[in-house]
Amino acid sequence: MLSEPTPDIDLDRFANSVAIDIVWTENIPCGIVLEDATGCFTPATPNVIYAKPIENDNARRFVVLHEIGHALAYRAGTSATAEQSEIDADRFAESFGATRY
Ligand SMILES: [Zn+2]
Repeated sequence: MLSEPTPDIDLDRFANSVAIDIVWTENIPCGIVLEDATGCFTPATPNVIYAKPIENDNARRFVVLHEIGHALAYRAGTSATAEQSEIDADRFAESFGATRY
C-alpha cells in the first residue's frame, strides 16, 4: 500500500515508498525543457525524477509530486497526450494537497 503523503510529507521518504529516487539538482536534465523548468521526468531513467531544491515548501512539494505523477503514469503504461499528461500530473500533486504555485 502507498503511504499517503501529508502536508508535512517527507518527500524523499514518499518517493522511496514508490521506488522513485529524487535527484535534487539546479540543472534539469530531461532534454528540451523550458528555461524555467523546476522539475522533470524522462522515460530514460524511469525510476528517477529531477527537481530543483526550491525553497518554498508548497512549490517544492508540487514539483516533486507532479513529477512522481509522471513516473507512476509511465510505469502504469497510460497513454495520454502531452497536454493531458500534464493535467494528470497536476491532479496527482493536487490530490495530495499541493497547489500549483
Ligand atoms: Zn509535467
